[in-house]
Amino acid sequence: MTTEEKTALAGFIDLTADYLADGHTRIKESSLPLAYMIEEDDEDEEYEDEEYIEESAESVESADSVDSVDSDSLEALAAEFAACKACGLGTARTNAVPSEGSSHPLVMVIGEGPGADEDAAGRPFVGRAGQLLDRMLASIGLYRDRNCYIANIVKCRPPGNRDPEAGEIAACLPYLERQIMLLRPRLILCAGRVAAQNLLKTGTGINALRGEFTVFRSAALEIPVLCTFHPSALLRDESLKRPAWEDLKLLKSRLDSLDSPEEE
Ligand code: SF4
Ligand code: URA
Repeated sequence: MTTEEKTALAGFIDLTADYLADGHTRIKESSLPLAYMIEEDDEDEEYEDEEYIEESAESVESADSVDSVDSDSLEALAAEFAACKACGLGTARTNAVPSEGSSHPLVMVIGEGPGADEDAAGRPFVGRAGQLLDRMLASIGLYRDRNCYIANIVKCRPPGNRDPEAGEIAACLPYLERQIMLLRPRLILCAGRVAAQNLLKTGTGINALRGEFTVFRSAALEIPVLCTFHPSALLRDESLKRPAWEDLKLLKSRLDSLDSPEEE
């Protein structure tokens, strides 16, 4: 594990501890399994982050079979969200929250929908859950400004942070499908039940969906999908950190296998 990843993991732990210490469940020193687990796992994870990122970028950019992404189209989509009133969330929002990241992502992360911080900033996953997500991704060499793309099922904030309703999701999903078609990520990570169930069109719960890869299929594409807990769930319930870390390791090992020539 590189220094950058260790720092990211330490931040992930610190952030969780800070959050829990200030008003939620008090964290106990002995209850940070992830910190110790990560140290134990160091020995069998010998990838070098910088090398990994460079190789990944090359392998994605040199994939001639993949149509090049038209960044104007991503911009055009963002302009459509900004003007969209296709569901009631469009009138309650401060800002539509487009999506952001690399236009050639290794991994597309899909969350549920903007919260108050995202609605105010007009950017996805910038609040506490978003900071935790960034640290989780960084621990396996993924960064939204380099090799990841961050999107949501609905692009406008459900008032009071309620779950988006079926009609709102139905109105907004075509945008997500267009984003997936444009980006053609190598892998998709669904953060939480709402993202997982709506992308995969299933009623199965997140506990059963997480922990193994499944596939997103559209007429033109098949993309491996891993579902895991939403980072807000990890902030609420620290016992979920261990399985979430298992999911991240699974994602990392799949990324490594995608990048090895014999698997291509
Ligand atoms: Fe349009 Fe989606 Fe916003 Fe509804 S949530 S107004 S469908 S962009
Ligand atoms: N939670 C989400 O699901 N998405 C965001 O963008 C922020 C918090």
